[in-house]
Amino acid sequence: MKNIVFINPYISDFAAYNLWAKPIGLLRSASLFKELGFNVKVIDVLDVFDIELSKYTKIKIEKYHTSKYPKKKISIPETYKKIGIERDYFLYGFPEKLFIKKLKNISKPDLFILNSIMTYWYLGVEYTIKIIKSIYPDTPIILIGIYASLCYEHAIKYFKKYNVEVIPSSSINSNSSLNYILKKFLNYNKYVEIKNTPPIYYEDYNIMKYGVIQTITGCPFNCDFCASKILSKFKLIEKDTIYKDFQTLFRKKVKDIAFYDDSLLYRKNEHFIPIMETIKDKIKERNIRFHLPNSAHARYIDRKIAQIFKELNFKTIRISLESISNEFYEIMDKKVTKQHIIDAIRNMEESGIDKRNIEVYLMYGVPGENIKDIYEGMKFLFDLGVKIYLSDFAIVPKTKMAKVFPEWVLKEPLYHNNSIFPKRFIDKSFDENIYKEIHNTALWLNHGIEKGIKHIKIDLKNHAL
Ligand code: SF4
Repeated sequence: MKNIVFINPYISDFAAYNLWAKPIGLLRSASLFKELGFNVKVIDVLDVFDIELSKYTKIKIEKYHTSKYPKKKISIPETYKKIGIERDYFLYGFPEKLFIKKLKNISKPDLFILNSIMTYWYLGVEYTIKIIKSIYPDTPIILIGIYASLCYEHAIKYFKKYNVEVIPSSSINSNSSLNYILKKFLNYNKYVEIKNTPPIYYEDYNIMKYGVIQTITGCPFNCDFCASKILSKFKLIEKDTIYKDFQTLFRKKVKDIAFYDDSLLYRKNEHFIPIMETIKDKIKERNIRFHLPNSAHARYIDRKIAQIFKELNFKTIRISLESISNEFYEIMDKKVTKQHIIDAIRNMEESGIDKRNIEVYLMYGVPGENIKDIYEGMKFLFDLGVKIYLSDFAIVPKTKMAKVFPEWVLKEPLYHNNSIFPKRFIDKSFDENIYKEIHNTALWLNHGIEKGIKHIKIDLKNHAL
């Protein structure tokens, strides 16, 4: 049988942090081909627990097995310099020698399937492709993932010189893309129909301290700034697949599990609750901790859900407010109100969860935002005694909100990067210092929450409360 190698590529950015990252779409794709009888191999250059990595570099593992990535400073792209940005820029991932060693150790590959994540990380993808090509110049490469889906035209044009086939899908999850690959690259002419969501292929991770689980793909909401609907069809994943994924993580002895769902609690009575009831004894036996990096919808956190969070050791609990402004209520497809947040926090507190461990997402740097709303949002959360988790706006192509940006910005994925505050492209009065001030205020308020301070006066020149 033919050999297919699945690669999670390097990240190129100003900063990157490993918050329970796993390339779930790539790993499900690997599983699909494995089930069809192909030999599959996964190389994840972002795997900080890789058994060989410690021979090359030391990575400090932090709370709940989060960590930094190995990194190498590279020149900042000219594209950024042109707009006056001069900051350190890095490649994150295995030292090149380790990646080369792993590539040389695999059986002769017939096909590479490469993942892509953030649109503005495509230079990391290019770096990965150059290394692959230096060893296997003639092996075909397919690019999938978020960048490949949201910036399809850019990817086709940019990676033409490497003869890369771009498939605009976050994972190989449609009959058409699967059968196209089987026929064109693998001489497999039998038509195959995908019936269920394949499990996550974790077998090639030699040491796993954390893993991820997904119970639902996509999201029933349609916020103006989010591509969830574009990237994945809303679907409850079959429970058998989810239990298989849990079994694998138990066998791998993970200590931390992050949910990757965009809408974890939607239809909770038929999905999340029975799933957690089924696995709860096994979770308790193993002292596993849960995390919600993508946040959960506050409106669904009733007493029952709050008790599950408490009983099953949910340590990172994030919920989204995004903004307290009324205009945002429409932009967010009416997904959350202040009252939803108040009720969710009360339910969690009454179930014994320490409020200081609850983090609430607030967006900033969004087109059309009112800076005063951001301060009021922070004050609202501080008064509730929970932590503020600022999420800085990044351009997500093909979304409604992306349309306010000029074409030349949308066409260059490096400009989508939240670290450069894309708002600068549409707001002449944009001032980076205002955002730094917001960031510092959030840090200061969170410090107050940590210390148990109840009253604080925010007194900033133009945003006094
Ligand atoms: S609720 Fe969250 S995941 Fe769903 S569309 Fe809105 S931002 Fe995206």
